[in-house]
Amino acid sequence: MEKLIIGVDLGGTNIAAALVKNDGSIVEKISNPTEANKGKDMVITNLMATIEELLGYVEDNKKIKGIGIGIPGVCDIEKGLVKFAPNLFWENVEIVKILESKFNLPVFIDNDANAAALGEVWCGAGKGKKNIVCITLGTGVGCGIILNGAIFHGAGNGAGELGHITVKEDGPKCNCGNNGCLEVLVAAPAIAKMGKEALLKGDTLLKTITDREKLTAKDVFDAAKKGDKVCLDIIGNVANNLGLAIANVINILNPEMIIIGGGVAAAGDILFNPLKEVVAKRALKDLYKDVEIVSAQLGNNAGIIGAAALVK
Ligand SMILES: [Zn+2]
Repeated sequence: MEKLIIGVDLGGTNIAAALVKNDGSIVEKISNPTEANKGKDMVITNLMATIEELLGYVEDNKKIKGIGIGIPGVCDIEKGLVKFAPNLFWENVEIVKILESKFNLPVFIDNDANAAALGEVWCGAGKGKKNIVCITLGTGVGCGIILNGAIFHGAGNGAGELGHITVKEDGPKCNCGNNGCLEVLVAAPAIAKMGKEALLKGDTLLKTITDREKLTAKDVFDAAKKGDKVCLDIIGNVANNLGLAIANVINILNPEMIIIGGGVAAAGDILFNPLKEVVAKRALKDLYKDVEIVSAQLGNNAGIIGAAALVK
């Protein structure tokens, strides 16, 4: 009998969860609101209800191998503890203990970016690879590192904070307190901000957008695809900063593959082509020649499949 895995993507807005097979395919998928604004206990209640709902699809809990949860925050995976998850208003929540006693099933947690990286080597773009770095470019910059086939956690489970490496000494202020972090230069809000500034200044296709406040990173990419010079410059800037960071990562870790996912990566070649040029220029030739830079493949299911991979 093939056992199924429950994979849970615990986001700040929605809890997406699924029954996942051993090959990473999804059997049944559901999504419920997280209701993070109602506090820590409500999130736990909703998480339990979501798992309960999925268990309703199997006759017997013995058919479940375990529950994996991707957490948007810092975890102590040894203690099964969520140390800090600002979007959930969680601090020191012993979620593994709570769920294991409720469901009598093994529970595994990890940071969601780490889980996504593991998912990509299980059944996504990095299938079968042992050394990869998976970068998620969305509202922020997430990063999971797989070395020798396993998640690299670092001494205190804090490895992979690529979003907070400095790429511009005197760049914009980041939420972490530093200036010029990668995240404030290449994440979706940064791209939208550059678009808004360009709209005020110059001649750009973005001027067809009537509500300036609603301008998104996607608008910038769409205009660039139509040949808009100003937006192409913005993307060139993003590619340059991201390329510097990735070249450094390649020089330090010597990975086989860099996988890039998230909303910003959906821009495709218009970002990837200039990015590869920068990386080729900056990384050591001998290391870069063997590195593939590719799009993530798991898309919207990356969180769920990655969480399931924690159990596998
Ligand atoms: Zn920062």
